[in-house]
Amino acid sequence: GLDIRDLVVGFPGLERPALDIPELVIPSGAHVALTGPSGSGKTTFINIVTGLERAPTGRVAWGGTDIAGLGEGARDRWRAADVGLVMQEFHLFPGLSALENVLLPQRLATFRLPPSLRAEANRLLARVGIGRPGQKVETLSRGQMQRVAVARALVARPGIIVADEPTASLDADAGAAVAELLAALAREVGATLLVATHDDRLIAGMERLLRLESGRLMPVASAAPSMPVPAAADPAA
Ligand code: ATP
Repeated sequence: GLDIRDLVVGFPGLERPALDIPELVIPSGAHVALTGPSGSGKTTFINIVTGLERAPTGRVAWGGTDIAGLGEGARDRWRAADVGLVMQEFHLFPGLSALENVLLPQRLATFRLPPSLRAEANRLLARVGIGRPGQKVETLSRGQMQRVAVARALVARPGIIVADEPTASLDADAGAAVAELLAALAREVGATLLVATHDDRLIAGMERLLRLESGRLMPVASAAPSMPVPAAADPAA
């Protein structure tokens, strides 16, 4: 799980910190949604907890590894091994097949690709509904592209899956399929899932909702609208 203490991130020229989180604990395997208005710090939060940016202060620990204390090389290796990323705009490489796209980050990270990874990539592509792994990604629909990106995020069995507005560039049906797959696959591999999103349907499937406002975490009752917090006066509660 994630354990944050005394995290303060500032940028030159900003009056207030972009992020100020005294304490946050997310248990391993939890599915968490992250919301907040534009400029509230979501991207900064994601960059810090995925190790893309170094936390200037405090502790940002995943399963006991404090990534705030790692140098850039060690942080890059940690990212490659432990974090699967899904972005709003897919970030696939045109000209390459779905299978090659799923394997490319592993090729870059591991130098020599274990044969089992190719089998796992093919399995995952079938699982996300990509029938022809050899198909060039630019010929796919946007929904299919994002499902390839989901397979790519999962292929190395990361302990952490982070998705940044994964349904925002998709129509409702394609978005629903991606939301379902993310949750199901994270569950299957036991990964912690963190999704920055404004998509109510995606939020509804999560166990917990984090809301950022001006860099601070605001208390929220519950992620799932189907499980409202009972009113104190309700005799049935
Ligand atoms: P959006 O949803 O619009 O992407 P966000 O919630 O992701 O917004 P951040 O991008 O994390 O918000 O930005 C948080 C605050 O930090 C904003 O005030 C932003 O202008 C500022 N900020 C982010 N990155 C930098 C930077 N590199 N230099 C200066 N200020 C920055």
